[in-house]
Amino acid sequence: MTATLIDGKSEAQLIREEVARGVARLAPQVGRAPGLAVILVGADPASEIYVRHKQKAAKQAGMVSSLFRLAADCSQEALDALIADLCARDDIDGILCQLPLPPHLDAMRSLLAIRPEKDVDGFHPVNVGRLQMALPAMIPCTPLGCRLLLEGCCKLDGLHAVVVGRSQIVGKPMAALLLHANCTTTIVHSRTRNPQALCREADILVAALGRPKLIDAQWLKDGAIVVDVGINRLADGKIVGDVDFESASQKASFITPVPGGVGPMTIACLLRNCLESFARAGGLVSETTDSLSFLSSQADAHQGQ
Ligand code: NDP
Repeated sequence: MTATLIDGKSEAQLIREEVARGVARLAPQVGRAPGLAVILVGADPASEIYVRHKQKAAKQAGMVSSLFRLAADCSQEALDALIADLCARDDIDGILCQLPLPPHLDAMRSLLAIRPEKDVDGFHPVNVGRLQMALPAMIPCTPLGCRLLLEGCCKLDGLHAVVVGRSQIVGKPMAALLLHANCTTTIVHSRTRNPQALCREADILVAALGRPKLIDAQWLKDGAIVVDVGINRLADGKIVGDVDFESASQKASFITPVPGGVGPMTIACLLRNCLESFARAGGLVSETTDSLSFLSSQADAHQGQ
């Protein structure tokens, strides 16, 4: 079998256009455009690239995107003060602090300082908890993007999903989103015994382990749907995923490429979260595509059982 490509680039473009239409419709009602604040500490080259892409995308969607730079040796107090200032500003709807931070800074302290309703990355414990409870929340952008891509491939209800990786930003929220979609969900991590056998049982396999091309056709059931979150830079500068695309695409039914799969969806979902935060601040949330409408309806369904 040769897999159908899941085109994250096109899907992300559709979301970005939808967000831009939302901004154009709501900004006149609120009297301003949505504001995204990006905090960058130091000058890590990869972070610089990610931040540039996020800012460009926000501006293209009609948002006001502002970059706040701090020196690599800045104090925790300086970072705290900046976050407090941004939290208090009425023109800022989304705040993201680009990770990783220099080792002398406390990432968790900074995360906790961001008001949950402005936490467009969805990393604040309040949003983490609300996601687990299927309550409206800011959902981390990468897993949200994966879930939207999967919904475009098949009906998720009842399928066995295996998520490889259990990080706070990808693996765990991904598993929660799949569980809320009524998948039977298994998490595989570095201590899992016989991970390959577990993965071979997956109807849906989400690879988020950060190991270049580790998952090949031998890890897959025939016809599995494969979402590759991994972004790994090889010595020759080439970017590859956690899945060996050449072999896996011979066995999968659907597969995301790297690049052009999950990556563009992450940025599109960041814009979606920012628009939602803006709409909530302006009391207009029912007029946006609520990221969590599917979770809310899921919670209602559970309560009705
Ligand atoms: P982390 O390093 O935080 O987590 C990796 C997870 O994979 C851990 O839970 C680890 O297990 C598990 N793991 C590592 N090796 C194995 C193995 N051999 N078998 C099974 N599990 C394993 O990474 P992230 O979650 O932050 O990112 C994962 C990948 O996704 C990276 O390549 C990253 O670059 C990419 N990424 C891509 C994004 C995008 O926009 N496309 C956004 C974010 C990340 P344990 O917990 O036991 O250590």
